Formats: sequence, C-alpha cells, structure tokens
Amino acid sequence: MSTLALAGPEDAHGHRLEGHPERPTRIAAAMRGVDDLQLGSDLLALPTRLATGTELLAVHTRDYLASLEAFCRLGGGDLDADTYAAPDSWPSVRRAAGAGLAVIDALAAGRADVGFVAVRPPGHHALPDRAMGFCLINNVAVAAARLAQAGQRVLIVDWDVHHGNGTQEIFWNDPRVLYVSTHQTPFYPWTGRAEEIGGPGAPGLTVNIPLPAGATGDIVRRAFDEVAAPVVDDFDPSWVLVSAGFDAHRDDPMADFALSSGDFAALANPWPPTPRGRAGWCWSSRGATTLRRSARVCGPR
Ligand SMILES: [Zn+2]
Repeated sequence: MSTLALAGPEDAHGHRLEGHPERPTRIAAAMRGVDDLQLGSDLLALPTRLATGTELLAVHTRDYLASLEAFCRLGGGDLDADTYAAPDSWPSVRRAAGAGLAVIDALAAGRADVGFVAVRPPGHHALPDRAMGFCLINNVAVAAARLAQAGQRVLIVDWDVHHGNGTQEIFWNDPRVLYVSTHQTPFYPWTGRAEEIGGPGAPGLTVNIPLPAGATGDIVRRAFDEVAAPVVDDFDPSWVLVSAGFDAHRDDPMADFALSSGDFAALANPWPPTPRGRAGWCWSSRGATTLRRSARVCGPR
C-alpha cells in the first residue's frame, strides 16, 4: 500500500467571483474523491505554505508578479475575458504554488510515495508574463522548475482537456523538462499542435497529442502508450508531475471528451512495474500539481 501525501485542501475562499466556474466548491468535489479512498493511516496530511518570490521568479517575470500583487491589492478585477483576480487572490496563488513544493519536500524525504495537491486557482494556462484561462501562477511549472534546478529530470503529464500552453511555453527550450499533453482540438487555447515539439534547446521534449471531440478514455490511454511512452522512456525522468485536470470527464459541461472516472485511475497507473523500476505517477486537480517520485518510468513499447 502506498502512502499518499495530501497538500490541502485549500479552497482559496478569498479568490472567487460570483457565477464563475472556477470556484471554491471545485476543491470540495476533489476532496470527496480523496475521502472515498478511506486511506486511514496511509494518508499523510501536509501543511501548505506560501511560495516565495524567488520560487515564483523561476517561471514568471518580475514585472508580472509585481503587477499581479498590486492589482489584487487595489481590489482585483478582470485579468482577461475569463480570468479574474480578487483582493485576496495574491496569497491564494502563492499558497497554491507552495503546496506543490511542500509535497515535493515530503516525497524527497521519503515520507510518502505519491502526492496530491488539492488547491486552487489552477495554473497550466498561466504564461511567464500573463494570466490566462482561469490561471494566475503556473503551479506545476513552479514545482518542475524547483526540481530541475536541483538537477532532476522532470516529466510533466498534462491530461487536462485543454492544452497547457503556459507550461509548454515556460519549458519550450528547457532540456531538463519533458512536457506531454493530450487535449481536445480545435479548442481553447488554440495551441498544442502536434508540430509544436520544443525549441532548439529541447527538440522533441514537447509532445502534443491533439484529439478530436468525443475522445474516450481508451483513445487517450492509447495515445499515451503509443505516442508518449517511448519518448518518456528515452527521457528517463526522475520525477513525474501531473497537471490532472478532470475536465476531460464525460460529464464536464465545458468540454467534449468522454472519459469516465475509471479512465483517470487508469491514466494514473498506465505502466506496470518492470525490472527497470516502478512507474511513478502523481495527480492533482488542474494546475494543482500532483507529484510522485519515480525510480524510473517505463512504458510498454
Ligand atoms: Zn481544462
């Protein structure tokens, strides 16, 4: 039995906008799933913490961070057509990013085998210098940058139904990070074509697998097995982070994939143990990062 390190729940009650779909009750829904597992003593509850300015600067520009903090302090408002900030959003986004770092510390210390980060707001659309798509700070990128700076090789799996354009841009030219995404196309944010494979410093380390509306779980799993797994095997990551948005679920009203709850469980454990090491996965809600330390990730050929 594995031990699950849980950071959160942090529902960021101060970061909300009446009628907006990215709202505190998302975390309650995720926690119902955790509660259903009835992990007992196999659940390690972790305190969250605020990400520091230095940690945020690893992926965002100084000007953007300063302007976001000031924007919140002055009362917040719309950051783009569908992204908002509230007066209390600044500590919320720092805590959402810091929660992932707390899980990394717990896993690195051997206190747990897998992590789950139940926080909001999400992060994978956030660009180095701009908020976008409900996302203000790119949580998974902050975690990945921390690991990469420590000499780790980081795989980011993004099975959210939307392409993680922010995460892709941040690590576009970074050979320390492999980014793999399945997503609906054509669809917001209109990026993530298969031809987008990374910059000259990291060719082939961005793997986009765009899929049409209606894609079911077996199609998504096959995409990971047949397209992503060989690349992952060659990359040989030491850590796996998952941007585990659940909006690819068949009941999600904002997108058109057709995954079941069981499909997400299968995606979290796609590869069986092999003589070369046990597959390591982690998961979380969108942008909240899921982390798992991986001895080695091996995919079927
Ligand atoms: Zn999404």
